[in-house]
Amino acid sequence: MPARQKITIYDTTLRDGTQGTGISFSVQDKLRVAERLDEFGIHYIEGGWPGSNPKDVAFFEAAAKKSWRQAKIAAFGMTRRGGMKVEEDAQVRQLLVAETPVVTVVGKTWPLHVREVFGVSLEENLAMIRDTVAYLKANGREVFYDAEHFFDSYREDEEYTLATIRAASDAGASLVILCDTNGGSLPGLVGAATAKAATAIGAPVGTHTHDDSGLGVANALAAVEAGAIQVQGTVNGYGERVGNCNLTTLVPLLQLKLGLPLVADLARLTELSRFVDELANVPQSIRAPFVGRAAFTHKGGLHVHAVQKLARSYEHVDPSLVGNERVVTISDLSGQSNILMKAEAMGFPIAKGSPEVAKVLQEVKRLEHEGYEFESAEASFELLLRRLLGNHRPLFELEEYHCEFVRAGKAGSDWNKCVAAVKLRIQDELVHREGSGDGPVNALDAALRAALEPSYPVVASVRLDDYKVRIINGRLGTAARTRVFILSTDGRAQWGTVGVSDNIIEASWQALVDSYDYAALQAGRES
Ligand SMILES: [Zn+2]
Repeated sequence: MPARQKITIYDTTLRDGTQGTGISFSVQDKLRVAERLDEFGIHYIEGGWPGSNPKDVAFFEAAAKKSWRQAKIAAFGMTRRGGMKVEEDAQVRQLLVAETPVVTVVGKTWPLHVREVFGVSLEENLAMIRDTVAYLKANGREVFYDAEHFFDSYREDEEYTLATIRAASDAGASLVILCDTNGGSLPGLVGAATAKAATAIGAPVGTHTHDDSGLGVANALAAVEAGAIQVQGTVNGYGERVGNCNLTTLVPLLQLKLGLPLVADLARLTELSRFVDELANVPQSIRAPFVGRAAFTHKGGLHVHAVQKLARSYEHVDPSLVGNERVVTISDLSGQSNILMKAEAMGFPIAKGSPEVAKVLQEVKRLEHEGYEFESAEASFELLLRRLLGNHRPLFELEEYHCEFVRAGKAGSDWNKCVAAVKLRIQDELVHREGSGDGPVNALDAALRAALEPSYPVVASVRLDDYKVRIINGRLGTAARTRVFILSTDGRAQWGTVGVSDNIIEASWQALVDSYDYAALQAGRES
């Protein structure tokens, strides 16, 4: 490959990304995302569309007052409307009000779109592109031109398609970006058309792809391999319909696999991805390449054994390069390697081939057969390990618990109510407490907390973050059973616990008891 210009990353999470279903950022959120992107080393940050949205105007006002490490902020807009002067178009003028160093304008490429959707002549469309780019340039902006529907148009009318980007380039656009707006193009065409476009305007181009065919990243990669020097996309692939080119996948591919230096600290990628998901209030995708929780998770026993010996055997890159980590899960697919790694990480090194390993393995398999899953219930797994290795003193001995649910015939206050009572032996003392709540598990939890708190004050700081119930089929053809998974937190750490029974209350009880047991353990009740 001949020497090429430096590749830049252009992030549009705050504009195209927010057009995704369920994605919304406040002005404050947008500023925080932009700061993180700047710290991470993104070159251009598209902040929004000032002509379309008052929130974006507020963002640009605040952004203009900040000093950015290296990122240049870009405002986004459209070419002028047909049949009017560019300086009279309020939407275009708003782009100057945003006071950004870069302005990106999108224009029409596809004759079908120009005539039938936009309703202007092909000649007028070329004039709209020229006038808008020249006007912004004359006002001191660096102008990027987004050629909408470039590839769809290229397939149908190559000559006109290339004429539109020539118009933008001749009018002073410093970069023309070829957009696969509908996300339906294939990498072969994208590569070939990208090379052709660069030749037609005598300058390298950029790429903006969408993921409708699952090819957003592949198409961007094809464009870069064909000479594109700017890649546009979004963090975690947010964007309209199924989303944009996912920078969280593309950046490590370019940097680690093609050896293109893009960002200084790629090891902050996973943190960036999770930060943005958290602000957008979107659940993380566990299967996201590079940054997902499952990206370097090993479940099969043979794989675990091999990864311990030689990480490269089942990992395409070292997880630490992207700030992720290797996770070994406990499952009935596991061999003893998983158990050994887990036990060691918990501080109980046990010897390979020892009777303890066989005992743990046998018990894990038996419980998994009954319906337990320890993959996200690591606290229950640690307690199990401690019990089996004779290193555990339970919080209490259960004498009995009971729950009662009364539903009265008519609505009103207290029309239904759950009460529960627990009788526990805690350090040789018999403790009897009651609790009430909206449901039987709440009521039981209230009674359990009341009984435990005087002896284990840490219980007061535990909050239940999530409670999931799943009905599982008995694997021996027995009646269906219930698995309850509880995620707890003390505000700092999070831990998962699990319970299984043919009774939902008993399954919940097991998971609750494990949660408080684990909290007490962490608080240093015993080693
Ligand atoms: Zn787009």
